[in-house]
Amino acid sequence: MISKIIAEDLVSRAREAIAVKEDIVITCHVGPDGDALGSSLALWHYLRGLGKRATVVVPNRFPDFLAWMPGAEDIIVFERDAARAEEAFAGADLVFALDFNETRRLDRLEPLFLQCAAPRVLIDHHLNPESFAQLTISYPDISSTSELIFRLICRMGHFERITLACAQCIYTGMMTDTGGFSYNSNQAEIYTIIGELIKIGIDKDDIYRRVFNTFTPGRLKLNAYCIYRKMKLYPKYRTALITLSQEELQRFYYKSGDTEGVVNEPLSIEGIVFSVFMREDTDKIKISLRSQGAFPANKVASELFGGGGHLNAAGGESYTTLEEAVDKFRRALPRYRQLLEEC
Ligand code: 5GP
Ligand code: MN
Repeated sequence: MISKIIAEDLVSRAREAIAVKEDIVITCHVGPDGDALGSSLALWHYLRGLGKRATVVVPNRFPDFLAWMPGAEDIIVFERDAARAEEAFAGADLVFALDFNETRRLDRLEPLFLQCAAPRVLIDHHLNPESFAQLTISYPDISSTSELIFRLICRMGHFERITLACAQCIYTGMMTDTGGFSYNSNQAEIYTIIGELIKIGIDKDDIYRRVFNTFTPGRLKLNAYCIYRKMKLYPKYRTALITLSQEELQRFYYKSGDTEGVVNEPLSIEGIVFSVFMREDTDKIKISLRSQGAFPANKVASELFGGGGHLNAAGGESYTTLEEAVDKFRRALPRYRQLLEEC
């Protein structure tokens, strides 16, 4: 038996909203990850099963290692196909916002989202959601939005409607947002839910391989380069930093998704509890932060890089040079020394 975490009135309101709407757009944050896509596609499969016209619109492209997900080929990528995205929003009578807490996380899709007159339902697990939706289903203690989608469908009385494709998407999100169940994954019910997904027919080992074991040789070499040549350790602060410049990315023929997971690697060093990765994209520096134990990666992300996220996995951006971002980070480290020592 899975406990009823989502409040009853939110479940009823979601059920009622879905019942009377036909043209539903589902959207998620920029740089869609396994949970953003997993939750969006799981909901898409469910809504299509109900006979709704549903469309997933994402702000920009997603990594190749998620392209196998059932339904991924039908996703509209705004960055590539703005006209179809505009058409989808123009015809929508309900919009689901999944896996983000602030509309700016939609990046260049934000204006289209905000201009759309259809009511919005937010389903998310980040702290402090903005109030941009008529219905907000926000549970930061739940480790993935995909798990929330499973819980919501069940609570609407539709467990039987979870198809194999839907279950595969739910599992992918649960797995990726917990680093393959290596952090933020001590809640017993996660495993009850996985048991249910396995009964539906998912092959969890196969999903693991599809997501984590599909590196190109170039991606593996880039990862090795990051550790061998670029990892800087600050033992006094139990911290590691890896940076990659545009020149380095081009040297390794970087493709979206190729640096996914690099930030986790230094945490395998005994005594390192905080790891930061900075990538010089063409328009900004993208920063990923990971921590172990009680050290708040999201606090550093928000205080230094205008970002946020979860306690152990957060991100932010910098519109400075890479050197300036590194400098800001290095100078701020002493401020966090006590917290780093305590965890
Ligand atoms: P990643 O490092 O994998 O890009 O992101 C880790 C987590 O941090 C994600 O779950 C996401 O919620 C959050 N995150 C990443 N980038 C940003 C950002 O620029 N702003 C905010 N608020 N959160 C972010
Ligand atoms: Mn998530």
